[in-house]
Amino acid sequence: MSIRVVVWNEFLHEKENAVVREVYPDGLHNAIAQGIGEDADVEVSTATLEEPEHGLSQARLDETDVLVWWGHKAHARVDDAIVERVAQRVHEGMGLLVLHSGHFSKIFKRLMGTPCSLRWREAGERERLWVINPSHPITQGIDKAIELPNSEMYGEPFLVPEPLETVFVSWFEGGEVFRSGLTYQRGAGRIFYFEPGHETYPIYHDPDIRRVLRNAVRWAYNPAKPWREVAEAPNVPIDQAREKIEKKGGSLHKAGEAGYR
Ligand code: ZN
Repeated sequence: MSIRVVVWNEFLHEKENAVVREVYPDGLHNAIAQGIGEDADVEVSTATLEEPEHGLSQARLDETDVLVWWGHKAHARVDDAIVERVAQRVHEGMGLLVLHSGHFSKIFKRLMGTPCSLRWREAGERERLWVINPSHPITQGIDKAIELPNSEMYGEPFLVPEPLETVFVSWFEGGEVFRSGLTYQRGAGRIFYFEPGHETYPIYHDPDIRRVLRNAVRWAYNPAKPWREVAEAPNVPIDQAREKIEKKGGSLHKAGEAGYR
């Protein structure tokens, strides 16, 4: 088995900010990809905003089982047609992991249908991600909680639809709480939102965070054949149904025919 993963990053902070470059010299995408690539059953590659088609051509997406999304300052620069292309692939069965500030990405808002807003504070405070679903595949290997000495606070209310499952709830030193690991299903595709990952902290080097990402890739992977006809709503001819029903003495009428109610 080989799960094909693409890690997408807007890749702008690393070029503009020396602090971010120091923490992630090869870019956030490569650190995330390295963590996920520790799973021998995964084949991981990366894509970034400034590549043609943001590195997400139809052919590339057709060969992607799980897409990982990190974006922050350039959500508006992501082409709407490509957002639709990604949404279509999720509906067909591609998994999607949305990380940190990706809560405001076009693709997450498109799939959630809500503002996806939250409260935040950048103060390098302690975060404790409590495992609140210890039997979930995404939390395997994590003991009770993940502790991050420095994190950006994300606080409730988080304006997302009620999730399928809440896997982590975070506590922050300043007192706030946040639903930091949430699962969704849209069409045939599984989605995991995971909150930690601010660009100035070495969060994607943390072994527990990397483990969660690897677990989430496996959880989001759908080995079934893509559901290609998701966007179609075909009409079913009336004749066959009429024949079946009439054989049993019933009757069926087209709209507008005599006897139609
Ligand atoms: Zn941030």
